[in-house]
Amino acid sequence: MNNISVIGAGTMGNGIAHVFAQHGFKVTLVDVSHNQLERALVTIGKNLDRMVAKEIIRKELKDQTLANITIQSNMIEGVKDAELVVEAATENVDLKLEIFQQLDKFAPKDAILATNTSSISITKIAAVTNRDAKVIGMHFMNPVPVMKLVEIINGYATSKEVTETIVELSRQLGKTPCVVNDYPGFIANRILMPMINEAIYSLYEGVAGVEEIDTVMKLGMAHPMGPLQLADFIGLDVCLAILKVLHDGFGNPKYAPCPLLVNMVTAGKLGAKSGEGFYVHTPGSKDLVPSTQFKK
Ligand code: NAD
Repeated sequence: MNNISVIGAGTMGNGIAHVFAQHGFKVTLVDVSHNQLERALVTIGKNLDRMVAKEIIRKELKDQTLANITIQSNMIEGVKDAELVVEAATENVDLKLEIFQQLDKFAPKDAILATNTSSISITKIAAVTNRDAKVIGMHFMNPVPVMKLVEIINGYATSKEVTETIVELSRQLGKTPCVVNDYPGFIANRILMPMINEAIYSLYEGVAGVEEIDTVMKLGMAHPMGPLQLADFIGLDVCLAILKVLHDGFGNPKYAPCPLLVNMVTAGKLGAKSGEGFYVHTPGSKDLVPSTQFKK
């Protein structure tokens, strides 16, 4: 396999393109927004510079990596030679279903179609194509060039050969693949999101403050980051959306999103990306200051 198309040039798409290109694959990065494509190339360049400065890679590899990436805003052109497509567009069911119908139409008949979705059913996505055995979840973690895990999700109809190909490919990228089945939240978010929700409930019920909750989990459980800080980084809107998928998918009240999380998202307090969530996020500053809402 040599030709990879990545759909969506945002946070995840640029990281996925970077990692494939760094490992010698020819990557076509596709996005509806030309600005986003230009921005993705700048981000990849900066991330490669950092890797050169830290002596993780040599300068020549930076140049080769960038030379392996082509940008494209036309989907038909962008996938016509793909052997594998990795879709990393915005997390929206209707959008993903529309994209997969297009991919099924325009990508070569034997191409594997993978999605980086955090929570949407692989089986549902596969069902809108005429190649459900070739549709699979390839869930990279953020930041993609750094994080080792790829959660590989088998849809109901995914073939064994396709899973084996994606497992092998993940290893070629220097990642550790973990194969799971297609149920709400897969494994990563099924376990992570209830923990984050419970941390928010603990704050909501006044059991402890923001810093106390995060410190207990960092020092007590050896987590590199507390659950409230992590929620801010993921985005509180994203956390809420995934909890809704778990709640709807299992019909179990234990997944009901905490009313405080719902309120914060309604108020536009989305975490790092909006400047405030459980903490205040000032660009360029690494200080962790709880939001004044949660000051004692
Ligand atoms: P993002 O908002 O940063 O980027 C999404 C990109 O998709 C944008 O550049 C947008 O222009 C593009 N796009 C929208 N419609 C398109 C279309 N029809 N064709 C091509 N491009 C289109 O989002 P992200 O955070 O990179 O997330 C992408 C996917 O990865 C989502 O499914 C998300 O759930 C998943 N994911 C995100 C994270 C994370 O930490 N951000 C982690 C794991 C998985």
